[in-house]
Amino acid sequence: MKHFPIFLAVEGRRIVLSGGGDAAMAKLRLLMKTEAHITVIADEIAEDIRKWADQGKLRIIARAMEPGDALCAALFYAANEDDAEDARVAAIAHAEGALVNIVDNLADSQFITPAIVDRDPVTVAIGTEGAAPVLARAIKADLEARLPTSLGILARIGKTFRHAVEVLPMGRKRRDFWSSFYFGTGPKALADNGEAGVIPALEQHLDAHIMQTAKAGSVDLVGAGPGDPELLTLKARNALDKADVVIHDRLVTGEILELARREAIIIDAGKEGFGKSTAQSDIDALIVQHALDGHHVVRLKAGDPTVFGRLDEEIEAIEAHNIPYTIIPGITAASAAVAGIGQSLTKRHRNSSVRLITGHDTKGYADHDWKALAQPGEVAAIYMGKKSARFIQGRLLMHGADPATPVTIIENVSRADQQIIATTLAELEPTLTQADLKGPAITFYGLAPRDAAANARQLKEFA
Ligand code: SAH
Repeated sequence: MKHFPIFLAVEGRRIVLSGGGDAAMAKLRLLMKTEAHITVIADEIAEDIRKWADQGKLRIIARAMEPGDALCAALFYAANEDDAEDARVAAIAHAEGALVNIVDNLADSQFITPAIVDRDPVTVAIGTEGAAPVLARAIKADLEARLPTSLGILARIGKTFRHAVEVLPMGRKRRDFWSSFYFGTGPKALADNGEAGVIPALEQHLDAHIMQTAKAGSVDLVGAGPGDPELLTLKARNALDKADVVIHDRLVTGEILELARREAIIIDAGKEGFGKSTAQSDIDALIVQHALDGHHVVRLKAGDPTVFGRLDEEIEAIEAHNIPYTIIPGITAASAAVAGIGQSLTKRHRNSSVRLITGHDTKGYADHDWKALAQPGEVAAIYMGKKSARFIQGRLLMHGADPATPVTIIENVSRADQQIIATTLAELEPTLTQADLKGPAITFYGLAPRDAAANARQLKEFA
């Protein structure tokens, strides 16, 4: 960068220009936008310049420049369109301490005048160090089209309001306020009611932001249950009723999302493209961001949020920002599924404990205490177990599990399209693969549907 852009304070200071023709006029048009005292010195002076002088916009000295003419000038322009004369006057101005620009002579100029987009007090200066004036013009045209002419008026009014806006906390809240003023409320008020409408709109806009700030954000980590809306807890329904933002999993059904407050923003944090590839950290950031914006966020997770739900990671992110939160439990897939087959998760004389296991974890197929699970009477609910079924089957058989141990797969638990597949450990695969299930499915190891259990008992009795 050979030229450093700055905005020079010229209010009440002298700017002197030598020259009275076209080049002088072009510069004067720009200079007259400032609040500087402008003096034009030339023995021949164009009609327009005389008119500007009559209007009080500048002062004329109708003779060639002499030493002393540029005293106390902040800036000096040599615009005589005559190299020898420009060099002469530039030398005088230079000696008198002004910064000198010689029009169309970059090499001998101490400063250059940028292309300007004027939305006073917003001014955009574009410079190419003389390299590409065409480019500067194109950028200027682009910005002229892009920046509404109202921007200057809004900025001027906004400036008088800066003090009032200090009631909002610094940083994001204030930035949001101004950005929605300049690009939303402000232009709209100006279009609807003219300049007089802007201040009342600004006041209203500020009130709305103050109210929003006063409302602290919070997060409810809510279990949505397995899909049937009637299996939602009352607390979950109340949370949905009050939600500003609902961020949900892929497995949460549309029927449940219907229950969210009508105005709530619904965000699918599990859809394809965002879904599998969504880093947990992105979801955490989304929750935090909406809560910090003062929203009541409902993080809606299938089943129970505490079961294979990455709940702790979200809580850590929320706690790191001191955001208040609650956990609202839900009916986990295993509970609803076991009800769906008329069984209990635990039963006297059969199993005094039940395991909730996952088919795979971050490292791949998940390992478990297969030896313990292979004992007679053991029961396990296997989540995310479709792909890993053959692995689980192999491990259990290897550790001595009875091949006839009942295994039940329940797809779309509690939904209209619920499907139950009763099989045995020996038959788990290829049964599961052949069933080609598309919905979420949970697998019970050690449990048969009640009817099948009854049938088996009867068969035994008849045997
Ligand atoms: N937090 C959830 C579990 C999330 S892990 C809960 O408590 O239920 C996702 C797994 O849960 C799925 O792969 C599937 O095994 C099981 N699952 C969730 N909803 C289900 C449903 N409606 N029917 C069958 N299985 C379901």
